[in-house]
Amino acid sequence: MSDLYLYNSISRKKEIFTPLDKNTVRMYVCGPTVYDYPHVGNARPLIIFDVLFRLLQNLFGENKVSYVRNITDVDDKIIDAAKKNNISISELTKKVTLDFHDDCKYLGCLDPTIEPKATDHIYEMISLTERLIKNNFAYVKNKHVYFEVAKFSNYGKLSNKKLIDLIAGARVEISESKKSPADFVLWKPSSPNEIGWESPWGKGRPGWHLECSAMAEKYLGKEFDIHGGGLDLIFPHHENEIAQSVCANQTKVLASIWMHNGYVTVNKEKMSKSLNNFITINELKSKFDGQVIRLAMLSANYKQPFDWNDKILDDSYKVLNKWYDFYSSDSVPLNENFLKYLKDDLNTPQFIAEMHQLYDHASKGDKNCASQLSSACKLLGLFNKNDNDWNKNKKIKLNNEEITKLIKERNFAREMKDFKRSDEIRKILNDSGVIIEDKENDTTWKYK
Ligand SMILES: [Zn+2]
Repeated sequence: MSDLYLYNSISRKKEIFTPLDKNTVRMYVCGPTVYDYPHVGNARPLIIFDVLFRLLQNLFGENKVSYVRNITDVDDKIIDAAKKNNISISELTKKVTLDFHDDCKYLGCLDPTIEPKATDHIYEMISLTERLIKNNFAYVKNKHVYFEVAKFSNYGKLSNKKLIDLIAGARVEISESKKSPADFVLWKPSSPNEIGWESPWGKGRPGWHLECSAMAEKYLGKEFDIHGGGLDLIFPHHENEIAQSVCANQTKVLASIWMHNGYVTVNKEKMSKSLNNFITINELKSKFDGQVIRLAMLSANYKQPFDWNDKILDDSYKVLNKWYDFYSSDSVPLNENFLKYLKDDLNTPQFIAEMHQLYDHASKGDKNCASQLSSACKLLGLFNKNDNDWNKNKKIKLNNEEITKLIKERNFAREMKDFKRSDEIRKILNDSGVIIEDKENDTTWKYK
């Protein structure tokens, strides 16, 4: 038995973590739908479950953790985006998958053990659907296959929803012919010019939830240890995954522990394209080292919302600058009374608070604290470049606050027709690696 505690969304309490098979810890995390550049909201589960992966490797052994994260490469959003951009679906999904991998690397994430793609597992999805029909949990109607929610008595347990409320609140498309509005689609028909695969129910494609059940079973088995994802996936996605897997395989549960990370807001507002505060991971690459994003996101408890703002990024940048004084390429085992915070349901804020203490001791010459700090950074996925590379990087960077202040001052100088001062400021920024661009009434900037 380990002394790792994790909060289980399904029991709504912290539970001691015991792997079903002591030789392999098995974890599944829902990955991206590859139709557009990933945004900072997508960065959060990547970072959080990467830290959990590293912690599990630390506790159970590097080769004893199997971490599966899928790629959703067939979905209505993908079909729409390909149409809009006038490219083929495979061109779009290949390109976005490459962007996504580049983002993962930038954020310092380890590769998962297996990264299956939905379109490579259509056979498994069809076979799972056939088992559900055979077990009487699914029915065929108008070339659709639906899961009959009323047949599964534990439906709604994860999301704490009651079937009666779901039926009342469900929106039913006119084209659908379900027995109940709460039933969800396992397979749907594709028109001749739409992407589709041959199936016992005609040419069609899977409903979104099906792929995770099929791929989790193939790579992790019918029951496994941890299933993770963002809070927004609890309903309907994870609820439906449980229904499909448990009813097809006649098991008690799908995963022992369900973990969900909180939302990301931007300056306390919901991130959305219409509010113009939509930040892609890609656009951060010219402004920050990925480690800054990582540390900032880990400063909040993973279950709580994380607010994205300039201050938290500037603070993280300054902290990393300090901590890099104690960078070491060697790693030492971490002290138990320090590691215990991560083992307490990934309490990264408390773990980071302890790292500040280590830094204070290290600054006073305590070599043991210095090596503990460096190793703690690595466990969080920080220090993924050496101190030389970090320092090269550092020289050209003013922080956000300083840049904004200088741009304001320059705009004021221009208003006052003090062009000497405005040119001076442009030079200061340029020498620090910042390029500015004046557009109408706005000045934007980026790192060279
Ligand atoms: Zn999923």
